Amino acid sequence: MEKTKRFLLSEKEIPEQWYNIVPDMKNKPMPILHPGTKQALKPEDLYPIFAEAVADQELNQTDRWIAIPSEVRDQYKHYRATPLVRAYSLEKALDTPAHIYFKNESVSPVGSHKLNSALAQAYYCKQEGLTHITTETGAGQWGTALSYATKAFGLDLTVYMVKISYEQKPYRRSLMQTWGAKVIPSPSNTTKAGQKTLSETPDYQGSLGTAISEAIEVAMQTPNCKYTLGSVLNHVTLHQTIIGLEAEKQMALAGEYPDIVIGCFGGGSNFGGLSFPFLRHTLTEGRKTRFITAEPASCPKLTRGIFQYDFGDEAGYTPLLPMFTLGHTFTPANIHAGGLRYHGAGTIVSQLLKDGLVEAVDIRQLDSFTAGVLFAQTEGIVPAPESAHAIAATINEALKAKEEGTPKTILFNLSGHGLIDMSAYEQYLSGKLQNYALSDEDIAKNTDKLEKII
Ligand SMILES: *Cc1c(COP(=O)(O)O)cnc(C)c1O
Repeated sequence: MEKTKRFLLSEKEIPEQWYNIVPDMKNKPMPILHPGTKQALKPEDLYPIFAEAVADQELNQTDRWIAIPSEVRDQYKHYRATPLVRAYSLEKALDTPAHIYFKNESVSPVGSHKLNSALAQAYYCKQEGLTHITTETGAGQWGTALSYATKAFGLDLTVYMVKISYEQKPYRRSLMQTWGAKVIPSPSNTTKAGQKTLSETPDYQGSLGTAISEAIEVAMQTPNCKYTLGSVLNHVTLHQTIIGLEAEKQMALAGEYPDIVIGCFGGGSNFGGLSFPFLRHTLTEGRKTRFITAEPASCPKLTRGIFQYDFGDEAGYTPLLPMFTLGHTFTPANIHAGGLRYHGAGTIVSQLLKDGLVEAVDIRQLDSFTAGVLFAQTEGIVPAPESAHAIAATINEALKAKEEGTPKTILFNLSGHGLIDMSAYEQYLSGKLQNYALSDEDIAKNTDKLEKII
């Protein structure tokens, strides 16, 4: 019989609702707190920063299903449904009995899953009558996605881009400018947070934490302007569940159900987006599936961080979030998987990890690129350095399945392609890339500084 390689859905089969996992969780995430009063925040408290609709979604613990606005679905049709692909060639190269599937989010016009939430957030800002939004970007994936989305819905966008990425990834910057965004390297002189950082460390290369502080400051001071975030928060992961809901239908077309679901982990949105729709069957029907996050060994909040209330940004402008964290003052090494250089983890995944419902593994930089190159040589797609972490974790599980002689079904998320990250591959191929080791003292330096609220 001829083998099916790609499992495809028609436009009509694009899901009409996102899935909110919180109503199905026995232990809900702990509340997010006002940093001054330590009181639990209500949606209204978030309105000054975020679009009201997404602030409501952020704290929604009752509605399992949230309708996707038809304007957003129309935009999704530019690239969705994305293919589910059986990685036969990778399986063969590994000589594994495992069945490996991947959801290919790299086919979006911006090259990553980030567009799924960018379109939703831009739509809600427009609906609310805003004219301008701000954001930050690390490697440039979120800024790129939001540039596309703000152009689609007719809004102005200012992006604070981590300075090292601004210099290392000029093509992402150009992509954002092509879609009409204003891009400013962070730290910058345009905000108080940026000026403070520059006065303390004039040659600071920037971090997501600083860039978030700058973008929030501008949003709070500009009329008709709000801030958006591309990871970490619950509403972002909610929008990303379109990935897992499609994958669920596509796995059914393949006649399989995953034993293991894997995603790389920055703040948790692509991992949660793929895994929560499957996790719902674990929570409500007791299905046995393992859910594995793959994070960089140089930024190991899930495998080596602490569970504590912490700020989402470096300057401490955000509310306090209950999460696994390395401390908001932690500066990750300059690995090429820029989207994974973040000190904390989303509150839902943090709670799920605490409850033993998800697992975490850490991947060293060189191992991620070895896996990425093998994937390119077998399945043909050059993965984003971030996604290569999920591939490395998948390969480890497939090799374990071979050792044990068990035909596991593994599903991972290809969160993006790496065609704009070729300078990273160039360094890997010429032997210039390194691993970064963190001692327990390195980690304690920042986590010890956190106020012990729990
Ligand atoms: C941003 C990004 C990530 C990490 O963010 P999550 O919210 O953890 O998904 C992973 N892969 C790619 C391609 C990204 O752009």
